[in-house]
Amino acid sequence: MQRTFSIIKPDAVKRNLIGHINQIIENSELKILASKKMYLTKNQAEIFYQVHKQRPFFNSLVNYMTSGPLQVQVLEGMDAVAKYRKIMGATNPVEAEEGTIRKLYAESIEANSVHGSDSEENANIEISFFFAGSELV
Ligand code: UDP
Ligand code: MG
Repeated sequence: MQRTFSIIKPDAVKRNLIGHINQIIENSELKILASKKMYLTKNQAEIFYQVHKQRPFFNSLVNYMTSGPLQVQVLEGMDAVAKYRKIMGATNPVEAEEGTIRKLYAESIEANSVHGSDSEENANIEISFFFAGSELV
């Protein structure tokens, strides 16, 4: 069993897609241990995406991620990190496989509907950034 961190991003929350996306997550045998709707502050968004701070899209990404409420979640299952990355699809929806969340729902390479951790180490860092251990049930 492994855990990963998921965000349903502002574009998807705005379009009422939380349930649709969570249906895909649950159909792939990932369990939602914790889920809450929140706004990211500019500071939180900058810390969360600090690995990208030198990239040309960084300021636009921070603005987008603070543009509306999002849903932060912890998922658990077999190979959760890789499994969730697979059902998310490629970062650029144009390149995402059929049936993936981003192929189905993403609006653009930036407003691409979901985030998922890229390693178990980053999953643990991202989970503890948003959730207390007692919230994971
Ligand atoms: N992003 C963007 N332009 C790009 C690449 C990425 O706006 O050219 C955004 C997009 O929202 C993406 C996030 O930055 O999900 C983080 O990028 P990363 O390369 O880590 O992609 P991910 O891990 O989300 O697939
Ligand atoms: Mg990433």
